[in-house]
Amino acid sequence: MKRDLVSGGTTAEAAELYGIRSWGAGYFDIGEDGTVHVMVPFGDRRVGASLMAIIAGMRQRGLQMPVLLRIENLLDSQISLLNDSFNRAIRALQYGGAYRGVFPIKVNQQCHVIGEIARFGARYGHGLEAGSKAELLIALAHLDPDTGYIICNGYKDTEFVSLGLQALKLGYKCFFVIETPTELPIILEESRRLGIRPMLGVRVKLSSRVGGYWNESSGDRSIFGLTTEQIVGLVDALREHEMLDCVQLLHYHLGSQIPNIRDIRSAVLEACRYYVDLRKEGAALGFLDLGGGLAVDYDGSQTNYEYSKNYSLDEYCSDIVETIMTTLDPEGIEHPVVITESGRAVVAYSSVLLFDILDVTRFDPGEVPEPQAGEHELIGNLRDTLKNVNPKNLQECHNDAAYYRGEMRELFKHGRVRLRQLSLAENIFLQIVRAIARELPGAKRVPLGLDALEESLSDIYYGNFSVFQSLPDVWAIEQVFPIMPVHRLNEAPTRQAIIADITCDSDGKIDQFIGVRGIRKTLPLHPLANGDPYYLGVFLVGAYQETLGDLHNLMGDTNVVSVRIHEDGSFDFVREIDGDSIADVLSYVEYQPQQLLEQFRVTAEQAVRKGRISASERQTIFEAFSASMRGYTYFEE
Ligand SMILES: *Cc1c(COP(=O)(O)O)cnc(C)c1O
Repeated sequence: MKRDLVSGGTTAEAAELYGIRSWGAGYFDIGEDGTVHVMVPFGDRRVGASLMAIIAGMRQRGLQMPVLLRIENLLDSQISLLNDSFNRAIRALQYGGAYRGVFPIKVNQQCHVIGEIARFGARYGHGLEAGSKAELLIALAHLDPDTGYIICNGYKDTEFVSLGLQALKLGYKCFFVIETPTELPIILEESRRLGIRPMLGVRVKLSSRVGGYWNESSGDRSIFGLTTEQIVGLVDALREHEMLDCVQLLHYHLGSQIPNIRDIRSAVLEACRYYVDLRKEGAALGFLDLGGGLAVDYDGSQTNYEYSKNYSLDEYCSDIVETIMTTLDPEGIEHPVVITESGRAVVAYSSVLLFDILDVTRFDPGEVPEPQAGEHELIGNLRDTLKNVNPKNLQECHNDAAYYRGEMRELFKHGRVRLRQLSLAENIFLQIVRAIARELPGAKRVPLGLDALEESLSDIYYGNFSVFQSLPDVWAIEQVFPIMPVHRLNEAPTRQAIIADITCDSDGKIDQFIGVRGIRKTLPLHPLANGDPYYLGVFLVGAYQETLGDLHNLMGDTNVVSVRIHEDGSFDFVREIDGDSIADVLSYVEYQPQQLLEQFRVTAEQAVRKGRISASERQTIFEAFSASMRGYTYFEE
């Protein structure tokens, strides 16, 4: 078992322990005051604002935890970085085309996020990618026709196609990417009916496979994209209709979060071969769209581990530009406009989930009382084992202890020992395990089976949030996000813990954390202190988490706060959105809050009639019921 550093209580040690300078990308750090600071770039300078100051502002405004905090500056900064990096690579390599990014709406559809991307991105001509009719409506409403492109992926019916074609009349550059052969007849028909020639793209299914969690969306069995045979058929059909010149864009998407730069390079290379041959077939290609995949280094390890990436943004951009040039130049084909549909990398940093800890369960054994006459033999054995623990016999002691305890449990099941005897045995067992855990750091080699000991002894910290609503990927795909206390970072965190949420689901927990040397099973935390609130933050949650979240146990949307941080470190609450009330979530599952109130009123009224409560007690109970209706779905102060 590898052990992480133990923080002695300085902010530098805390930074190392939680890895904040590795995954924080310069946007997050620990201030001298022991709190996490958001570091906003202003030119060459970074200006910090304490998350605790922001939390204090939330409290003054009566906003309860959990809160999803959006930091608008970080969204802007990531859009700038992406565009600036591509533009730098293009200038440095003297590439003949331009870069035009589009943000895939599905990655975060929230109105204010899309609004900010459209507003800030306009200076770069940043556009939007729509994968459905609803998303196309969002794109049309937010973009100026003369700035960003609209790329339409996904299955397109007549209505979708008709709207997209008419958008061309308004001046939008709106591409239909053909994903399946069945879309072509619809597009041809609508185009003829409206008398508008479409801007078409072709989605190719690359044979390149990528590593990472989404590797299934690449390769032969990818569910999207045309096979070579389908592409040839499409070219022939379009030529027949004298519309081959409408094909202007080549598109592929290998999946999200591609950790390895080699996979990115080999996909671009393969796509360029399609580009060359389709040009030679007569398609009027001028745009190469590489889809998403630009990864976020969630664990800060800079490796090709699933939730990391082994390349920088500059490397990503220059590798792409260079690969396109070296493939197209020998063929004498001019450089296309490069499009990427980077979603995750653009929004991940800008949101932080903040929640408070409600309670803690510790697995600390109590004092073991002195032996008494006539004690069960197995208890005596456990006592002896406890006395004998030393660095040389850890495995043996653990085996013995587990055996004796197992026997005691069996006897209890058969009614041969009493509850108090079993409880004593369990307590001594825990003492033995603690003793073994204390010796482990000194052991030369951690015996097999004992590497999970620390985990089995760790505390459970109960957080005021729902994994299912706010961190669905933790539950669905075991994603790791950086998580840490946002204050008290100049105090040593003396506890090891896992985190449980407030749903009643055993999956509602976080038990994988970012460690100095890879994933660790427990998180170092501070003991709760005299009733003071203890706040944790889950970072880099801006991509995919919000709309994939669900209503498990009817925990609804959290409160959302958007802040903008100024050059002097002050900040504005630019938006506050109240989370769902209980009435809101009940109506999502078809209850009518008014009717529930009425039903409850009748029940209470009957209790008055039966003499169980007085009429004024009825009023108090009824008011409690209707106040709950209006309340937050999470634990309220
Ligand atoms: C999901 C998706 C994206 C976004 O990918 P990221 O890895 O988040 O950048 C881009 N394009 C298409 C077609 C997608 O389905």
